[in-house]
Amino acid sequence: MSKQNCSMMRDLLPLYADGVCSEETRKAVSEHLAVCSSCRAMLEKMNRKVALSAETDISAIKKIRKKLLAVRIAVIAAAVIILAGGLYAGYIWAVTDCSMDYVKYDLANNVYVEEDGSGDLWLCTKGNASALSIFAYPTLSDSSGGHLGHDGQSFDADKKSGMGYTLKMMRISAISPFTYGSRELRMRIGKPDPEIKYIFYYDDVNDIEYVLWGEKPQT
Ligand SMILES: [Zn+2]
Repeated sequence: MSKQNCSMMRDLLPLYADGVCSEETRKAVSEHLAVCSSCRAMLEKMNRKVALSAETDISAIKKIRKKLLAVRIAVIAAAVIILAGGLYAGYIWAVTDCSMDYVKYDLANNVYVEEDGSGDLWLCTKGNASALSIFAYPTLSDSSGGHLGHDGQSFDADKKSGMGYTLKMMRISAISPFTYGSRELRMRIGKPDPEIKYIFYYDDVNDIEYVLWGEKPQT
């Protein structure tokens, strides 16, 4: 086999290896390869190189995929953390408050008014009332049962006769850890105004007064 023939064949080998040469060329190269071991060796080398580079490509793709997956996991984790943080914040801040049910939270035994030595009145809470309440909303009542705050239109400011408090809780606080514990709370009402004859707990949902101190005038 002439060296010149080999050099021509080697020019054709890449096309042969890729299978893109004409049928005639393919035949000629095959015939030459059958009798030329050095060209055969060249072809083998070429094929190995192609296979190797394909393998390298696959492992590079796998690496990129792994990186993308890690990025995706990080993004999802960040989103979950942000969402959870938002919910946590919403848990505390965006939850609406609501009146505490007098019967459900046993307020008859947990809310009372006390007079101290100097004649000041104190609104006192304990148990559930202290654990769950976050605000005490005051309201005034008039002699015909109207309430300032609940139904301001019927309230007669000139005939006020009682002062009431409604305890408010976060709607969700009953199942949340964000309560104030079960210690007693005392809120100073002060010396009773002569016009104020009684102090009451006001269930503003059902419009019911529960007298805590003094006497409700008969209407
Ligand atoms: Zn050859």
